[in-house]
Amino acid sequence: MGFTVWIDLTLFIALFILFVYVFASVTITNLHKVYLIFHFAMMLWPFCQFAIKTTDNPRIQLFYVKFAFIDLSLLTIGWLLFTIFLTGQLHFLRKKISSLIFVPVIFIAIGIIINPNELFVRPMYGGYIERTYGPIFWFTVTILITYAIISLYIIYLALASKKTARIKKQVYHVLQGVSMLTAFVLLDILFNVVLAQSLPGVIPGLTSLGILLSAIFFVIAIHRDKIFDIVTIAHQDIIDTIGQGILVIDDNEIVVEINQALLPQFNLHIGDHFDIEDFLPKEHVSSHLNIFLHTYREEPLEKAEIELFYPDFDRYINLHAAPINVSQIMVGRIITIQDMTELHRLVDETTLQNGFLQERNIELIGIQNELFQTNRKLKQMAITDSLTGCYNRHYLTQQLEHEIMENMKYQTPFTIFLIDIDFFKSINDTYGHLIGDIVICKTVEVITQSLRQSDIIARYGGEEFIVYLPNTSQAQGKLLAKRMKSTVEMNQLIIDNIPHPLSITISIGLLSLNNFTIKQTNNPTIHLNDMFQSVDKALYQAKKEGRNRIVSIVK
Ligand code: GH3
Ligand code: MG
Ligand code: MG
Repeated sequence: MGFTVWIDLTLFIALFILFVYVFASVTITNLHKVYLIFHFAMMLWPFCQFAIKTTDNPRIQLFYVKFAFIDLSLLTIGWLLFTIFLTGQLHFLRKKISSLIFVPVIFIAIGIIINPNELFVRPMYGGYIERTYGPIFWFTVTILITYAIISLYIIYLALASKKTARIKKQVYHVLQGVSMLTAFVLLDILFNVVLAQSLPGVIPGLTSLGILLSAIFFVIAIHRDKIFDIVTIAHQDIIDTIGQGILVIDDNEIVVEINQALLPQFNLHIGDHFDIEDFLPKEHVSSHLNIFLHTYREEPLEKAEIELFYPDFDRYINLHAAPINVSQIMVGRIITIQDMTELHRLVDETTLQNGFLQERNIELIGIQNELFQTNRKLKQMAITDSLTGCYNRHYLTQQLEHEIMENMKYQTPFTIFLIDIDFFKSINDTYGHLIGDIVICKTVEVITQSLRQSDIIARYGGEEFIVYLPNTSQAQGKLLAKRMKSTVEMNQLIIDNIPHPLSITISIGLLSLNNFTIKQTNNPTIHLNDMFQSVDKALYQAKKEGRNRIVSIVK
């Protein structure tokens, strides 16, 4: 084995080292995996070239020659698939018709494997170290070059399209790799096949070198430009898919990146000169804008932010400019644009709804107040006698039931009057019922004058009234009753339409409670009825004894 054998082996080893290096040093993504399979296939070419020369057995040599060309075919179709993958044309591969691209390579493989009548490769000097190629070889070369041209065409389409900077960068690297490989393969064919007869000897390792150089291109691209780096790809994808408009300009105010969200509104492209004025709505002057422009122009290291209304698009837009610093030197700016229209609409709607709610609230408070007043009136009505305005019998009964129990408990003396107007029927009969009502009311007024704050007067029925005097002994009660009786007697009732003043008298039944031996557990209603009966008897006694008097009893 001569020197030339080692060239291919060295190249194979170099490729293998690169393979291991990439595998070990890079976070593996799907793109990396595709690349690594590809890289492995690339390594096989120089390996086969080396292996051919390690044996004298022509059959084994032929195997390696065939193996090398099948590998090269797979490599070429692999390039095509890789290119499709990288340029984001995967949708093409999902179509059924896409499987047709494998048909030529299958034919090639069959032709290479069978090598019918040595139409692919023919041995020279009894072996395949030196060989001549037949029409199947040329067919293979044509097909492979066609695949390479299709790859280049796809790359051209990707570069010419409006793809983002990241895809273009990747595609550019692929283009360099493909060009390098194609150039060396063509050189190999030119020198070692076409001009083989006129050159003194075979130039070894040309295709292998092309493969190595293109692989080195890729490894550099993977590392330096991080073309397959998942985080970089994710960042780029975020920029491309985020709703905010993002614009990156360099320190010469040249656009270096612009995302999809920004494109529909602002007609800017990578490489254009960016002027902040172009971004502002026309004829919009405000102190805020002046501050923003001042910060943007004079203090580029500060962040500047403003919200503006764009009448042309009928939208509110928030503009934010921030410097990009590398080692405290500003190398560019990121300008983000956020549409605030929806937020404004929501705020407006919420304010409107708030206004409605406030109005409704005021209405409800009004209704609540009305209800409160009505309720109070109803409560008052429920306990008041409508004619005289003093408490009614129901209220008095309730109140007394409670008071009696308390008085029993604390042994507090109390007094009850049952008052009845004397000869009231004759007033009704003489002056009419309406005057009778007035007399009842006026009498209540007079009676009330004699009462203390804590005393309770209630209409018991007709022209009869009950007065409850808490904390009052019989002696005190009698004194009060006397004063009341004489005040009523002395009082002259002056009534409209009646020519002379009326004077009336009242009779009072008086009951004082000093005996607290009644069992506390007893029902208060029974006590009360008992007391009413007693005081009624006293009143009856007073009437019987001639009226205008007080009959008092003690229990
Ligand atoms: P006595 O001295 O025995 O009490 O004689 P009297 O005429 O006052 O008799 P009594 O108390 O039994 O009768 C009360 C009368 O009062 C009977 C009824 O016609 C009348 N009366 C009852 N309630 C009212 C009322 O609300 N308004 C008026 N105008 N009269 C009433
Ligand atoms: Mg009466
Ligand atoms: Mg009566």
